[in-house]
Amino acid sequence: MVNKKLIVELKSILKDNQLLIKDQILNRFSHIWKTDQPLQAIAVTFPETTKEVSDIIKICNKNNQEIIVHGGLTNLVGGTETKKNQLVISLEKMNKIEEVDDKSRTITTQAGVILETLINAAAEKNLLLPLNFGARGSAQIGGAVSSNAGGLRVFRFGMTRQMVLGIEVVLPDGTIISSLKKIIKDNSGYDLKQLFIGSEGTLGIVTKVVLRLQEAPKSRCSAIVGVNSYELVVDLLKFLESELGGNLSGFELIWKSTYNAMTESSELIKPLSNNYEYYVFIESLGSQPKQDYDLLENRIEESLKRGLIIDAVMANSDKELKQIWQIREDISILASKAKFDQHFDISLPIPKIGEIIDSITKELNKLNEVKTIFPFGHIADGNIHFIIGRDKNTPKLIDLINSIVYAPLKKFKGSLSAEHGIGLDKKAYLYTTRSKEEIKLMEQLKKLFDPKNILNPGRIIF
Ligand SMILES: Cc1cc2nc3c(=O)[nH]c(=O)nc-3n(C[C@H](O)[C@H](O)[C@H](O)COP(=O)(O)OP(=O)(O)OC[C@H]3O[C@@H](n4cnc5c(N)ncnc54)[C@H](O)[C@@H]3O)c2cc1C
Repeated sequence: MVNKKLIVELKSILKDNQLLIKDQILNRFSHIWKTDQPLQAIAVTFPETTKEVSDIIKICNKNNQEIIVHGGLTNLVGGTETKKNQLVISLEKMNKIEEVDDKSRTITTQAGVILETLINAAAEKNLLLPLNFGARGSAQIGGAVSSNAGGLRVFRFGMTRQMVLGIEVVLPDGTIISSLKKIIKDNSGYDLKQLFIGSEGTLGIVTKVVLRLQEAPKSRCSAIVGVNSYELVVDLLKFLESELGGNLSGFELIWKSTYNAMTESSELIKPLSNNYEYYVFIESLGSQPKQDYDLLENRIEESLKRGLIIDAVMANSDKELKQIWQIREDISILASKAKFDQHFDISLPIPKIGEIIDSITKELNKLNEVKTIFPFGHIADGNIHFIIGRDKNTPKLIDLINSIVYAPLKKFKGSLSAEHGIGLDKKAYLYTTRSKEEIKLMEQLKKLFDPKNILNPGRIIF
């Protein structure tokens, strides 16, 4: 039953174009990634300012109204799914960049700005926002902060967490906490902003952030190489890190099955033959185009001589560079190779990854319903993604696949979520990665911030 009092109160603070109710909601979606289920909700609200977010939350708090926060809706863990008795706060109208400060090397922005817009705004001032991942054209910075997104350059520049200098959030009781600082060092007590980063909107709504930028690189060089054993992949990573003078910015691994599936289509190039067990995409960012290219080329040749790699192709133009990286960046298309797909995003100690993925693959291959297994990952961060395709969609099968992939996590002190978060979908498996005591402490924090459990209820914990 729609709470009429709630709608009346919302109408008193919002303009017509900031509130959707009843049939107006039907052409919106709760989660655009591979679903077309219409959104269910009491109402969708579109605040334009932090004060409006606070006012909406105060009304919801008073009415014990559950709220689900919507950013760019690209999460892969059911974080933005709604029930029909819940209210949505969408940040899409909080889409203004407030300042790009090239002297402090910071960008101050509202939370609803699309990540790619921020990357471009920084680039216009010759600065780099190093946060970069496949969904950058749709994900909002508030969503990226709330899920502590990672991506392709984490091992050089860190996750979103490392880029946030200042934050403004609205707590579940409507209190505004504003700490939009541009300073790098601040040891004045608890680092409160870190609580909101990665907590998937369960503790507060991020309304603004200050992000740290880097000087834009003047060169970008890339290669793809073929390697025949996982041990050599690890040796290659160590070799390049020590030899490229800090320029190494990307080291992405895809397994043979994934490379073959990506390059069998005529739309993508096939820079190397499909004879190798592993394919590594290498990127270096620097300040001296000619020297940086020569340095990478020389170290690739040296890797060939040392037997670390068997084959290599350097990108000789921007076009070639884009074509090579497209094989890695477009990997999500492999989800359509089977009727149903399951995605994983686990973390493991780097040296152990090869043998663990082999044994997971062996176990998965024993299941007749599993049709495709595509491992790939941000290997320099110890982060493996899996897209597993199956021809059946029963909860029992999903659970069986989950338990096979998550089985090694406790023993090897890994994580069930390197990047994507827990949301609703992975909550039942949180115990594979966190102790009872840790989960209890998270629950206590949630109760402290949100005693009525109205903000993003059910995500991560309860
Ligand atoms: C093709 C593809 C590639 C991807 N690649 C990567 C990758 O390499 N690395 C990676 O980390 N992720 C990746 N993702 C996952 C996803 O893009 C990220 O998690 C992204 O940060 C989510 O941002 P969003 O704005 O879409 O958030 P949403 O999906 O809208 O929301 C994510 C969560 O944060 C909450 N939330 C959203 N905005 C706010 C806010 N302002 N305040 C408080 N809570 C909020 C939501 O309620 C939800 O729980 C990928 C997704 C796709 C579809």
